[in-house]
Order: sequence, then C-alpha cells, then structure tokens
Amino acid sequence: MRTPAGKECKYFYGNYFRGRSSEECRLLQASGQRWSADLCKTCPVPSILQANACEFLQLKGTVARPVTSLLQRRVQVTAFCEKVKRAVAEPHIGCGECHPLPPEFKVKE
Ligand code: SF4
Repeated sequence: MRTPAGKECKYFYGNYFRGRSSEECRLLQASGQRWSADLCKTCPVPSILQANACEFLQLKGTVARPVTSLLQRRVQVTAFCEKVKRAVAEPHIGCGECHPLPPEFKVKE
C-alpha cells in the first residue's frame, strides 16, 4: 500500500472504507512503537523492500531521534536473516547467503 509519503510499503495499512480514515504502520506496531505519518518521509524501509525482496529477511523498526536531527523522529531499522539466523548489517544487500555477489564484485585482499 502507498504511504502518506507516496512510496510503496508492505507495512503500511490504511482503511478509508466508507469514510473511515485509520492508518497504521504494522512494522512499528509489532515492536510497540508509536507511528505518525511524518515518519514515512524519511523511513528507509520502502527502499530496502525495493532493493531486497528476500523472503528470509526480517526487519525490525524502532523510532529514535538521531544526534544529527535532534527534533525529528526517524525510523531506524535492524535486519535479521531467518535462514542463516544472524543479523544482516546491510539490509539493502542482504546477508549474501542466498544471493552471493558475482566474483567481479568481490574485493581482492
Ligand atoms: S514508517 Fe516506514 S515501515 Fe512504517 S509505513 Fe511508513 S514507510 Fe512503511
């Protein structure tokens, strides 16, 4: 579903049926965080979902105020791979287990 910021996000849910107007973020709801529509503007989740469609990737969202933007709340995301059971440092790329990079992209040591 399209977020108030105009991006596709599978965690956003809006109910506008018969005059209703309830919206929620099910990613933040799952971790007990309070959602507001402004969070979607800077949220990294839509771009992560666009870059990485791995079925084993589990995202967890929290709301924080980073030091660089003291007044604005932002969504911070951590990722976990259900297949290899470990944290994923770069959710846009994934853990590399199912979809390894071709040798041309590996850094030589
Ligand atoms: S805050 Fe992020 S995860 Fe939640 S609905 Fe908005 S874009 Fe999606």
